[in-house]
Amino acid sequence: MPSTTMKPAFHHIEAAAVQAAMRRARTGRAIPLGPDPAVHLADDELAGVAQVLRHRLRLDSLNRPAVIRRAPDSLHPLFTGGQHYRATALSIPLGGRSLGFLATYNDRRRLIFDITDPCPRCRESVPTEEINRLEDLGDYLLQARDFLGGSPRFRYSPAHTAHCPARGD
Ligand SMILES: [Zn+2]
Repeated sequence: MPSTTMKPAFHHIEAAAVQAAMRRARTGRAIPLGPDPAVHLADDELAGVAQVLRHRLRLDSLNRPAVIRRAPDSLHPLFTGGQHYRATALSIPLGGRSLGFLATYNDRRRLIFDITDPCPRCRESVPTEEINRLEDLGDYLLQARDFLGGSPRFRYSPAHTAHCPARGD
């Protein structure tokens, strides 16, 4: 068979996520995470947010280096309906590809991570699924969307084109 028909192999982070999701599906339980590291104790806010994502995805337990790139997001507010503060855009390089995340606070002031993907209607990169654990990332990679249910921020993302039918008002 020509090798071009084969799917690219999972990166080790993706493989660990899929394993974690399958374990959660089998046992009904996720591995306990413990409290998030405090964002305000980091060198700067962006680094603090990246540390929380590293903790939620248990990247330091995978015994392989994992990089998280971070930058202020140009479009999305940090708080729902907010004006002044920007969300944080994060990405985890996976050897030629990357996983993009958007970090915002929900209305209970909890830091929430959404994976970003092209909108199925307008193709702009928008928050699509809430991913707050390694197990969630595994479900996402397995396309087990029923377990995830979509990001509440998908419809309201200002990244959609102006007339995108997926956009809510
Ligand atoms: Zn759209």
